[in-house]
Amino acid sequence: MRDICQQFIDGQWRASDGGRDLDVVDPYRETVIAKLPAGNARDVDAAVRAARDALPAWQRLSGEARGRYLEGLADGLAERHAALCQTISLNGGKPLAESQLDVDDAIACYRYYADLARQLDARQGEPSAQPVAGVQVRRYFDPIGVVGLITPWNFPLVTAAWKIAPALAAGCCIVFKPSEVVPMPEQAIADIAQAIDLPRGVLNLVNGDGRGIGEALTQHTGIDKISFTGSNPTGETVMRVAATGVRNVSLELGGKSPITVTEDADIAQAASLVMNGIFANAGQICSATSRLLVHQAVAEDLYAALSRHIDALVMGDPLDEATTLGPLVSDKQRTTVNSYLAFAKDEGLIPVRGASHREIPRQGFFVAPTLFRDVPVESRLWQEEIFGPVLCARQFASDDEAIAVANDSDYGLAASVVSGGHERASAIARHLTAGSIWTNMDQVAPPQAAWGGGKKSGIGRELGPEGLAAYQELKQVMAPVDT
Ligand code: NAD
Repeated sequence: MRDICQQFIDGQWRASDGGRDLDVVDPYRETVIAKLPAGNARDVDAAVRAARDALPAWQRLSGEARGRYLEGLADGLAERHAALCQTISLNGGKPLAESQLDVDDAIACYRYYADLARQLDARQGEPSAQPVAGVQVRRYFDPIGVVGLITPWNFPLVTAAWKIAPALAAGCCIVFKPSEVVPMPEQAIADIAQAIDLPRGVLNLVNGDGRGIGEALTQHTGIDKISFTGSNPTGETVMRVAATGVRNVSLELGGKSPITVTEDADIAQAASLVMNGIFANAGQICSATSRLLVHQAVAEDLYAALSRHIDALVMGDPLDEATTLGPLVSDKQRTTVNSYLAFAKDEGLIPVRGASHREIPRQGFFVAPTLFRDVPVESRLWQEEIFGPVLCARQFASDDEAIAVANDSDYGLAASVVSGGHERASAIARHLTAGSIWTNMDQVAPPQAAWGGGKKSGIGRELGPEGLAAYQELKQVMAPVDT
């Protein structure tokens, strides 16, 4: 595996100006697998200049032509599919089957926005849907300009695709900063851009941490918009900094999503949906349904079914196809999750399953899959994003109570409802405050459907037509009409 020691700027891999290196770690073997430059403001400046130089020609290209490049990025990922899955699992610790879904999702996203880029040509100059007497109004969709894209470590390639694909489709040029924790998969995007002759400067990838690259990128006045996915504290900083110069921001932040199971639900189905909602990627998912609300009449049955499922999870090497629960991404993340388990002890929470119920592998940043029951709503574990394999459950007596408790959260990203009838599930969903709600199904995030949440979960939407609009400025050209 190649050491990542460079930045991709103006169509070339070149040495970083930063002078500081970071360790990239395999979270299962606990070994350093690469060195990453931490980057600095000069790297960012070079990337922003390259992007600004490339912008006039790129935005004048037809949507059709930009769509062809997006198909090229999708094809490049498809050709590297097997290798990328290995890299995601090696660097991020998620089981191979989940990495395969990630690469598939990223490819689908590039193809979807290739389509929207092609459709854009016919939409340029469209008349306004609201006729104005005596005035002809034509609408044009211009790119916002040069955009800074910052992503976290939990879904490499995917969170990047949700930004890169619509930004390129809209005609924006990009300075992209992947997470320094799981940077290995993302390097492929720059390699593919080079291989398909994407015009120089249209996509720049700068490696580094928040101090080296993130802060400089957010502060750079040559950046017209920052699209950020990550934690709330960093998101708030990004928003504050972007206020200088009134620069546009999109924020995809944390969550504490509820899953509600009513008394008429199929318990086997409910158990499977609850498991997938919290233990996929060891709970390191922004939309993890980490709060379980179960009707009191079926609570014992569901806890028993969940216990059987939890006992059947196979913890081990993410590269081993038998593994269903990998390590956490880093020692730091394990420490954070363990601190919540310590709070749980102090608060006297009741573990149905946890560290005392199983052996965990000696090697790797593992945390035992944990289920607490009867968790009070005041508990820190009920209220705060833990980002680990920890499920908190409590019982309810009526749908109204379930809705009130589900909505009593700082976050509003996602929710699930499991019920015997679709009508009842939909009725509950209608009253929940969340951007995406799944009823009687697993979590999916297809590129056609918008993604994002309200409250502290962020600002704006990714994916779908809204995800393209996030990189466009609407321009209206008006002229008098002879009557
Ligand atoms: P993080 O905030 O630590 O880092 C995210 C990115 O920001 C990284 O690339 C990091 O290097 C960069 N960064 C750090 N300091 C910065 C600064 N001062 N200025 C600019 N950039 C800076 O988050 P994380 O730990 O990588 O990711 C986990 C978080 O991401 C969780 O809270 C999770 O809920 C959230 N997340 C949200 C979504 C969503 O769609 N809403 C998706 C995935 C993850």
